[in-house]
Amino acid sequence: MSRSVLVTGGNRGIGLAIARELAAAGDRVAVTHRSGEPPEGLFGVRCDVTSTEDVEAAFKAVEEEQGPVEVLISNAGVTKDTLLPMMKEEAFTSVVDANLTGAYRVAKRATKGMLRLRRGRIVLISSVVAMLGSPGQTNYAASKAGLIGFARSLARELGSRGITVNVVAPGFVQTDMTAVLAEEYQEQIRKNIPLGRMASPEEVARVVRFLASDDAAYVTGAVVPVDGGLGMGH
Ligand code: NDP
Repeated sequence: MSRSVLVTGGNRGIGLAIARELAAAGDRVAVTHRSGEPPEGLFGVRCDVTSTEDVEAAFKAVEEEQGPVEVLISNAGVTKDTLLPMMKEEAFTSVVDANLTGAYRVAKRATKGMLRLRRGRIVLISSVVAMLGSPGQTNYAASKAGLIGFARSLARELGSRGITVNVVAPGFVQTDMTAVLAEEYQEQIRKNIPLGRMASPEEVARVVRFLASDDAAYVTGAVVPVDGGLGMGH
C-alpha cells in the first residue's frame, strides 16, 4: 500500500537516500528542503525545522498533495563543532533547536494525523555520538542523546494507538557532514570501526525502510545502530 511519507532534510545526504528508498518501495514521498531545490521526482516543501510556522505550512502542503503523514522520518540535523570552552551559547542552543526541538516540532505535528488514523511510523535519526560522546560535539551529542529519551517517551504515549517510534543511530556515513572532516581524522575513525569503512547513505536508508514497514510492527522505542560496530556495547 502506498503511504504518505515525509522526510525532513530530504534534499541531500542520508535524508535523500531514505526518501528515494521509500519512494522505490512504492510510497508517496515528500521531502523538506531548507535551501536549494527539491530533488527531482520527489514532492518538495521548503521548511526550516527551527520554525513552528514553517513546519505547520509544510505539513499543510504535504497533506494537500498526498494526504496525512503516515510515516515521518525526522532526519534534518546540523553540527557546529568546537570544544566547550570555545563554544558560544548560540552554537549550543541552535544545534539543540534544529536537531532536538526540530524533531519535537515535526513529531508533534505528525501525531495529530496519526492519532486520527490510529496508525503511524516515526523514525528519528540520532547518532552513535549520542552514546559514545565525541570531543568538540557536546552540543550535537546532547541533541542526539535527547532524541532517545524523546522517542522512548513518545513510544509509550502512542503505543496503544498502533504508532511506533524508533531511533536509528548511524555511525560515520559518507555525506557532506563527514566530508569536511580532516583526512587523518577520517583515517583514525575507520581504524576504530570493526567493518573498517564508513557507511553509504543507502545502508542507513535500508534500515529506516525496515523500521517504517509492516515487518517492524512489533518494534518500538528501539535504538538501532547502523555503525559498522563502532558503538558496540552501548
Ligand atoms: P547533511 O549535512 O548532508 O544534510 C543535512 C540535511 O539536514 C540537509 O538537508 C539540511 O538542509 C537539513 N537541515 C539542517 N538544518 C535544518 C533545519 N534547521 N531545517 C531544515 N532542514 C535542515 O547531513 P547528513 O545527511 O549526513 O545527516 C542527516 C542526519 O543524519 C542528521 O540528523 C545527522 O546528524 C545524522 N547523522 C549523520 C551522520 C554522518 O556521518 N553523516 C552520522 C550520524 C548521524 P540544507 O540542505 O538546507 O542545509
